[in-house]
Amino acid sequence: MHELSLAEDMLEMIVQRSQDDGFERVTKVWLEVGMLSHVEADAMIFCFDAVMSGTLVEGATLEILPTQGIGECQQCQQTTQIEHLYDPCEHCGEFGLKIVQGDHVNIKSLAVV
Ligand SMILES: [Zn+2]
Repeated sequence: MHELSLAEDMLEMIVQRSQDDGFERVTKVWLEVGMLSHVEADAMIFCFDAVMSGTLVEGATLEILPTQGIGECQQCQQTTQIEHLYDPCEHCGEFGLKIVQGDHVNIKSLAVV
């Protein structure tokens, strides 16, 4: 499952950061989830809880922040807000936009003690 490997990557990043910054527990995680990333919030939270069990992140709340998809048109160089990967440019109708935002999952912030 997509969300499971994402949760495992998150744990790895958080453990690394805890060593760099010297915190011992995480109480909340804010996660930016791009609207084009095919991540389902419910599945993400389920996998998060499963993967974080028994780690320094156990019991932390996962707050999901949806990030708007944005594509850049190769034809007219303008950007368009898009909801689906293959949406056309709203300015000239061209397809094949280059995705500049919204296809990634990214830890925005951590609450730590
Ligand atoms: Zn265009």
